[in-house]
Amino acid sequence: MTGRRTVTILGATGSVGRSTLDLIARNRERYEIVALTAHKDVAGLAALAKRFGAKQAVIGDAALLAGLKEALAGTGIEAAAGEGAIVEAAASGAEWTMAAIVGTAGLKPVMRTLEGGGTVALANKEALVSAGALLTRAAAASGATLLPVDSEHNAVFQCFDRARPEGVRRIILTASGGPFRTWPLERMRAATAAEAVAHPNWSMGAKISVDSATLMNKGLELIEAFHLFPVGADAIEIVVHPQSVIHSLVEYVDGSVLGQLGAPDMRVPIAHTLAWPERMATPCERLDLVSLGRLDFEAPDPVRFPALGLARLALAQSGAKPAILNAANEIAVASFLESRIAFLDIASLVSEVLARYDPPAPLSIDDVLEIDREARHVAAALTGKIHA
Ligand code: NAD
Ligand code: MG
Repeated sequence: MTGRRTVTILGATGSVGRSTLDLIARNRERYEIVALTAHKDVAGLAALAKRFGAKQAVIGDAALLAGLKEALAGTGIEAAAGEGAIVEAAASGAEWTMAAIVGTAGLKPVMRTLEGGGTVALANKEALVSAGALLTRAAAASGATLLPVDSEHNAVFQCFDRARPEGVRRIILTASGGPFRTWPLERMRAATAAEAVAHPNWSMGAKISVDSATLMNKGLELIEAFHLFPVGADAIEIVVHPQSVIHSLVEYVDGSVLGQLGAPDMRVPIAHTLAWPERMATPCERLDLVSLGRLDFEAPDPVRFPALGLARLALAQSGAKPAILNAANEIAVASFLESRIAFLDIASLVSEVLARYDPPAPLSIDDVLEIDREARHVAAALTGKIHA
């Protein structure tokens, strides 16, 4: 690589954002930070902006602008605030942008980054699930390079022969099975938020950790994979692999199966996108196959983990359904984290919202956001009923 690559990180204070900055800290001479964004964590954002010499720091909550300005006083770092300012930061013209805002809040910023061309490392899976067709079309139109950060999709990206996709027979996404993989249904009924968030292999934000426990995460990833790789939904399979060592696989028509393996550390796929098309060293644990000894696989249980079937259904019905699945799930997970509904209610609630709300297919990001808002209303109203 020649010269320093300019970088913007949307969602810099989160789990993926901080892992990205950890890698940049180890390779300071290769990267120059343009903008860092966060939602409400002024102190965390200001500290990162100072440490990495960012040109700009943007806080999503407009009411926090004064606090951010104060925290950055005398540093020369520009402070900005509000949703619009985050979208502008997304169009900062950085050569490489990490899209790691969680949830639908990331949708407009991701769209804006893709429209601007350049290289986009995409972690925000909810954006691709809700608006996959619109986003991939925008990327194709601007010539943006879309690099998947989600470990499974990054694995597939590394194994998939994009020049000859007709040679691919299927994609196999691996799932850890989450913390409740071996729990009987009765025990799952009483599962607490703390138990759901305690993921066996990966350290992640709360929302995605609950999604791993319901397997909705894998359902969302199925839809993500459908948009990222030119194979049909029927050619994407899910296999539970508790050790999370094989991150996903690609099977070719000749029977060859290529997989990407590594320690379960998000810094591996993030480093792949950060250095791409080159490689960079990471401090991640190296894979020791002998000490691992064995790798296990099993089929996902559709009875204890109905979320996977719901995601397949939403993908088959397409149109607005994937956005509804995602929005209803966000409400259900938030309600569960606040102990307002039980663990198994998450999938029931999503299923109910999918059945009740059937708008036409979205034609723009604004349409997607409208569907998202309405699906949240339907879900919230139903949550009240479950709780009553
Ligand atoms: P996180 O909750 O740790 O961080 C989210 C980031 O988004 C924070 O910087 C937060 O300030 C920002 N944010 C939240 N709400 C916002 C809003 N309304 N407006 C602006 N900014 C907002 O989440 P994470 O675990 O880092 O995950 C980020 C994304 O990456 C998610 O979409 C997740 O599904 C995906 N992902 C995460 C992992 C992982 O290991 N953590 C793995 C694969 C994919
Ligand atoms: Mg994943």
